[in-house]
Amino acid sequence: MDDIKLYAKSERDIDSLIHTTRLYSNDIGMSFGLEKCSRMVTKRGKVVRTEGIELPEGNIADIEDSYKYLGIPQANGNHEEAARKAATTKYLQRVRQVLRSQLNGKNKIRAINTYALPVIRYPAGVIGWPKEEIEATDIKTRKLLTMHGGFHPKSSTLRLYAKRKEGGRGLVSVSTTVQDETRNIHEYITKMAPTDSVLSEYLRQQKPKKEEEGEEPSWKDRLLHGMYHRQIAEVADIQKSYQWLDKAGLKDSTEALIMAAQEQALSTRSIEAGVYHTKQDPRCRLCKDAPETIQHITAGCKMLAGKAYMERHNKVAGIVYRNICAEYGLEVPRSKWETPPRVVENDRAKILWDFQIQTDKMVVANQPDIVVVDKQKKTAVVIDVAVPNDSNIRKKEHEKLEKYQGLREELERMWRVKVTVVPVVIGALGAVTPKLGEWLQQIPGTTSEISVQKSAVLGTAKILCRTLKLPGLW
Ligand SMILES: [Zn+2]
Repeated sequence: MDDIKLYAKSERDIDSLIHTTRLYSNDIGMSFGLEKCSRMVTKRGKVVRTEGIELPEGNIADIEDSYKYLGIPQANGNHEEAARKAATTKYLQRVRQVLRSQLNGKNKIRAINTYALPVIRYPAGVIGWPKEEIEATDIKTRKLLTMHGGFHPKSSTLRLYAKRKEGGRGLVSVSTTVQDETRNIHEYITKMAPTDSVLSEYLRQQKPKKEEEGEEPSWKDRLLHGMYHRQIAEVADIQKSYQWLDKAGLKDSTEALIMAAQEQALSTRSIEAGVYHTKQDPRCRLCKDAPETIQHITAGCKMLAGKAYMERHNKVAGIVYRNICAEYGLEVPRSKWETPPRVVENDRAKILWDFQIQTDKMVVANQPDIVVVDKQKKTAVVIDVAVPNDSNIRKKEHEKLEKYQGLREELERMWRVKVTVVPVVIGALGAVTPKLGEWLQQIPGTTSEISVQKSAVLGTAKILCRTLKLPGLW
């Protein structure tokens, strides 16, 4: 212990305590840091000016204004407001510092939770914190996030504060911080009170708190914000579908964009006309064929199919392709943007990229994205990639599987190898089919679900930015 605070009923008693402390300190070889000591005398609640107290080491003077004990300003009277203001200012300063940093989205949130919020947490349980102030600080935090491009203003606040594993951003609110801290201290006092007369007196004087617990609302139940979640819940592995939030290491602006797209928070023409009731023509600005919805822009517009969707598709297929090359010791295309050659081959394997295969019998599809022939094992894998609308992933997976059965039979007959058809399907906004992991395991080399998902989501983010002409910040 290096701080001590003494209380007594009268000026004579406090001086006696100070003397005892001084003597004891000398006995144990501790020096009295006089410059850090001060004394305050009050009579009927009013501070009385004194000459201080004279000790052999010097004078202990009166407290000027307030003093800090364990970092919290105090003295006679109400210094809680000052303490709250100081904590809030420092907290917001740290939030800004984090948001200006080069950290990725997940780490920025983490830094706010573990570096900025403790500034509030520390005094939170000790001093009262009015609800309005808590609310205002949370609003200010969200504004700062938005100003730095990390939170869409129409995005779900509930989801911002939900856990990443459950599809949220994982931010902790000031409100939760103050509540937790207050509850923790209260629990401690309740536990210790039976053996501590001061604590039990404190507890006796506390007004019974009304319990405000009820069912916490969830973003998943919200009409627009939760629509995506409810749609994919039927077809996707939910946990894996949100894995990109935890493992992809995306920038906060990309995270915010994808989430806003999932929550119908982005201003597409259809949303402007239907939800905000503007005079906007709800049809797609590119093709004019269909309502301009997020689903349409991310996976349904014929004007984007040829180039933008193709580019996204090839990036995903490229990841799989490169992993296969690495597995067989074949030269891996150097850059991500380089289109692989149609055929590469060594004595172990032959890999075809987007290659039209001549068959004796007519088949419905003969140009899959990738075909790998393992010459030693006498096996071949036919791989086809798709990045459809998230609610269509399962249907698409099934479609792909069916589509290549004819080719599979032909190849088995012509090449005398065992052929497997493997669909690699990932939703444009990240939805993962329950079987994706199994499919990927049937492909030579190691391709992780997260790498495929990250690539698809990044591709979609780019398409959204370009089509909706989104600025760098909201
Ligand atoms: Zn269109």
